[in-house]
Amino acid sequence: MNDSTDRPVRTRYAPSPTGPQHIGGIRSALFGWLYARRHGGQFILRIEDTDQKRSVPGSLEQILEAFDWLGMDIDEGPAQGGDFGPYIQSERLPLYRKWADWLVERGYAYKCFATAEELAAMRGAGAGYDRRYRGLPAAQVADLEAQGRLFVIRFKMPLTGKTSGQDMIRGSMSFDNSALQDAVLLKSDGFPTYHLAHIVDDYHMQISHVSRAVEWLPSFPLHLQIWDAFAWRKPQFAHLPVLLNPNGKGKLSKRKERFVDGGGKAVPVLAHEFMDAGFLPAAVMNFLTNIGWNYGDNQEIFSTAQAAKRFDLKDVNPANSAYPIAKLEWLNNQYIQTAEADYLARALKPILEEAGFNVDDDRLRQLVPSLRVRLKTLNDVLPMAGFFFADWASFEAPVADILVQRKMDRAGTVEILRGALPALEQLDGDFKPDEQHAAMAAYARNCGYKNGQVFGSLRAAVSGQKVSPPTFDTMAILGKAESTRRIKLAIDALSRELA
Ligand code: GLU
Repeated sequence: MNDSTDRPVRTRYAPSPTGPQHIGGIRSALFGWLYARRHGGQFILRIEDTDQKRSVPGSLEQILEAFDWLGMDIDEGPAQGGDFGPYIQSERLPLYRKWADWLVERGYAYKCFATAEELAAMRGAGAGYDRRYRGLPAAQVADLEAQGRLFVIRFKMPLTGKTSGQDMIRGSMSFDNSALQDAVLLKSDGFPTYHLAHIVDDYHMQISHVSRAVEWLPSFPLHLQIWDAFAWRKPQFAHLPVLLNPNGKGKLSKRKERFVDGGGKAVPVLAHEFMDAGFLPAAVMNFLTNIGWNYGDNQEIFSTAQAAKRFDLKDVNPANSAYPIAKLEWLNNQYIQTAEADYLARALKPILEEAGFNVDDDRLRQLVPSLRVRLKTLNDVLPMAGFFFADWASFEAPVADILVQRKMDRAGTVEILRGALPALEQLDGDFKPDEQHAAMAAYARNCGYKNGQVFGSLRAAVSGQKVSPPTFDTMAILGKAESTRRIKLAIDALSRELA
């Protein structure tokens, strides 16, 4: 049996270009990529577009964009080039035809002339293809071809016995040959099927490890038979577990109705949805690597570089996993908390700008330290801190529902704010958060209020919202003059309602 050490490691991701990049595909790609990085090997992108009806223009661009965003570099592929190209299957058609013919000439495959009607009748009878053209004498084949009859090329699967193979994740596997059909290798339009094309390519591209979704396990014996017919050195195989819906039922789908999390948001499933939802690429990589594999040492947070030092396909858990989406927000917050302040400011800026805010860089940088703790996603910056970038002059006092804290009333709130004002006005002009905090805690103590009542009322008065960065950080950024102006606006608004 071959081993990763006795040939250069070359892994590949071989998506069909059928539209937006699904996160399940990325997760499969990630495991092949990590394995290549672990062994100093190459990672190849190959576009499997032999089902032309399903090909969607722009898919390659979406794949490249997702990989680029996640930092998964591709060594060879349609955009990168390489010594084994072209890397798009529709540009390799003569190669597949050549090898299909090779199999026919040596008796491993045969031309099948079954018409659509014949096939429909076989399907109607409940069984699969009945191999009626498998044993056709050469003269008859030549005759049908001379009549211009269309044909496909089918593989001659052994009718009895077993096919055995090794899977890096699942160990030794054995399959009854009788359970398999004579699969089509080349269609009548000259396009190969997946079964033929991927083997021809994996061989010619010198792929050492084929890691692909477990859905391909049923056709694994067919593929092993084809490899043997060619007498080519086989790669090692790893059939990867797939992602299930968050409730553990059914494959995580992009088409069916979306799962909605506790907050009523649809869970992200497509690569661009992770970008749009404000996740950091490092958090997404960490999240995906953790599904079906673990770093060890009970460590949930690790970088891609750390994972690449330990990752082995052999250690992947064979069981499919429910999509642990709740973990992602937690992880994302952890990454946001430890990200470089400048990086974070650069990431937040376009989100604020797209929402129409005019972003002052200094103010944003000032805000980042107090903001980061509370951001689950970058997009949370809008409800949390958009108000810092709105026009301050047109700030209006919020409605009583926001101003009046739980278990308080309007009169009590006015009283608290009125009492707080002189204590705040007394503070230095730089209005340091800890000095505000000390003054407001003393004020609460002296007047018999709870800290939460005072701090919460102030937060609402100056931010106009129920959530914001910490109250005193917020007031420090707004400055003493603006903060006290807003507190007065709140007092006026509530007093008018009381009058
Ligand atoms: N084009 C196949 C797919 O998208 C590739 C499977 C493989 O990696 O071999 O499922």
